[in-house]
Amino acid sequence: MTKTLQGRVALVTGSTSGIGLAIALGFARAGAKVMLNGFGKPEEIAAARQAVGEAMGSGEAPYSPADMAKPEEIRAMVTACEAELGACDILVNNAGIQFVSPVEEFPEDRFDRIVAINFVSNFHAIKAALPGMKARGFGRIVNVASAHGLVASPYKTAYVAAKHAVVGLTKSVALEIARSPVTCNAICPGFVRTPLAEAQVKPLADKHGVSEEAALTDYLLDRQPTKRWVEVEEVAEMALYLCGPNSGSVNGTALSIDGGWTAQ
Ligand code: NAD
Repeated sequence: MTKTLQGRVALVTGSTSGIGLAIALGFARAGAKVMLNGFGKPEEIAAARQAVGEAMGSGEAPYSPADMAKPEEIRAMVTACEAELGACDILVNNAGIQFVSPVEEFPEDRFDRIVAINFVSNFHAIKAALPGMKARGFGRIVNVASAHGLVASPYKTAYVAAKHAVVGLTKSVALEIARSPVTCNAICPGFVRTPLAEAQVKPLADKHGVSEEAALTDYLLDRQPTKRWVEVEEVAEMALYLCGPNSGSVNGTALSIDGGWTAQ
């Protein structure tokens, strides 16, 4: 494999699971030093650190336990990355959560938490990491938004609003930094095979009285024309391209990887 990220340092939020872990692994295999972040059982975090560490050719990947709902912890995470690894050349804002409810019944604390973790954290991390990127002469910011950053679905008000906001933030930052050596882009996946998305299948099967297989193709993936999950490795490849040496003119985009969902 070509080591397109050799010598780079990457910070990937929400990288103990799913898309973030796949991105961290892809970056490590491409030569980057990667700092992980995210929640999970101690043994899950240890396994992620081990796997990414091995891909980096070292023992254990560095890890920050920062809570993306807490601005001061986000700032401390970026500072720790720069102190421990010497830089933060690549920032992937990926941590995210989901909650589904009719708007009249949506719990206020759940709404606030989704907005804080899925959107506001991106602002705090970008604000903390950008000065170092500019000073060192290279930077890549990738915000993991969603197809729900471009189009809506019912019962996902907090998630859809937060992901649209991520796309807006991405564009605005991209315009501000256009003449610097830093780029800022968003990735907009459709349904990706991860714990966050798989957890939505059973409730749909129960609600409609169908098998989980039917709930997946007929309900969850009703607007994903390929009728199959996007795989985490596919998203990781897109992130790798955006952070590599040949993407300097890609700035302010919201790149879809959704099986054709938003083409409709
Ligand atoms: P996942 O549940 O597998 O992983 C989410 C990660 O975020 C985990 O590492 C978790 O520990 C971390 N996390 C959650 N709350 C956190 C907090 N407060 N602070 C720090 N870390 C926290 O989910 P995933 O599907 O891999 O989702 C990753 C991103 O991709 C999310 O932003 C999600 O909205 C987005 N996304 C997912 C899909 C999909 O279908 N899976 C589609 C489009 C976009």
